[in-house]
Amino acid sequence: MTLVARYSALSDIGLHRKTNEDAVVVAPPLYAVCDGMGGAQAGEVASGLAAETLAAGVAAGLSLLAAAEAANAAVFARARDDSAHAGMGTTLTAVLLEGDTGHFVHVGDSRAYLWRDGELVQVSEDHSLVAEMVRGGRLTEEEAAVHPHRSVLSRALGTESAVRLDEFTVDLRVGDVLLLCSDGLSGPVAAPAIARALSLRDVDEAAGKLVHEARRQGGPDNITALVLRFEATPAEVAEAAVTGGVAARGDAVPDAGGTGPSVDADLPGAESLAAPATGAARPRRLISLAVLLAVLCVAGLVGGVIISSVFYVSVDEGRLAVFSGLPVEVGPVPLHAVYRSSARLDSSLSQRERAVVDARGLRGKDDAMDLGRDLGMWP
Ligand code: CA
Repeated sequence: MTLVARYSALSDIGLHRKTNEDAVVVAPPLYAVCDGMGGAQAGEVASGLAAETLAAGVAAGLSLLAAAEAANAAVFARARDDSAHAGMGTTLTAVLLEGDTGHFVHVGDSRAYLWRDGELVQVSEDHSLVAEMVRGGRLTEEEAAVHPHRSVLSRALGTESAVRLDEFTVDLRVGDVLLLCSDGLSGPVAAPAIARALSLRDVDEAAGKLVHEARRQGGPDNITALVLRFEATPAEVAEAAVTGGVAARGDAVPDAGGTGPSVDADLPGAESLAAPATGAARPRRLISLAVLLAVLCVAGLVGGVIISSVFYVSVDEGRLAVFSGLPVEVGPVPLHAVYRSSARLDSSLSQRERAVVDARGLRGKDDAMDLGRDLGMWP
């Protein structure tokens, strides 16, 4: 079965840091979180460069592993050539979706969690000194959680010329939720609270609740949450709806109630949807639905490309945020996602600032981030 992912990404500076050194990749079917480290602005450079190189590599047809290795090489080269960035590095937790399989690469202490039927499992392994000590039996989980050196990594991207990356796959099902996050989320927010947030059907609500909870727990570090919820493809959902809908209206379609064709979810599904139909009135309705679905799919594909290349500043739940994508919806599908949220309240805008925000002008990423800085969204 092919699954579709609904996603929401939020990155928040937290309450104690002057910069946000986390970076997020939202380039369906690729999603990733990077948490940079290094003095001055180096952490931000490392995570940003890793995210860009990874996304560009996958877009150019590299395997996920090869793209991550290219990201390592890019960060390592920049650190070597520029003394201001010496020693910088970043975590990387990335998933590439293919059908119902999630292919992961991972290094560092960012995390991937799988929520399934109410159960939360951490599917990545932390590459930190304290995690190594826990695995070696020299420290308990409880001691590790408060250890003064808990943020020291045993492996990271960009600190050596070659990196050892964990590679694994997860078979995904309808209803599964994946969370990729930085340690600014998994540190302060306990597992039961993460599980509660991921049980929400609305991914925006889930991501918002996670960031809110990390801030409520003191927000000591940058907080990034990337939530992916897996659903059946529109063709399968539509198939169920059409079959059920016909039966509910009592149309004269023989045996429409439970014997509808089951559709292999390769879209566009015009043929597979229409072919098995038996009633006289049914084919036309199915074909028009298939056309609608095909349009939505194309919009989704185009949206994926646009979302990763244009940005704008607007308001998310009363606070200013930089969005990636277009400020529109195609039917129920938004062609945008929050790229970086801020603490600045919408209500605090001056008239002049409000005019700029309300215009929702499309910009390149750097332009949008500069505007965010001008608007006092971050230092
Ligand atoms: Ca961090």
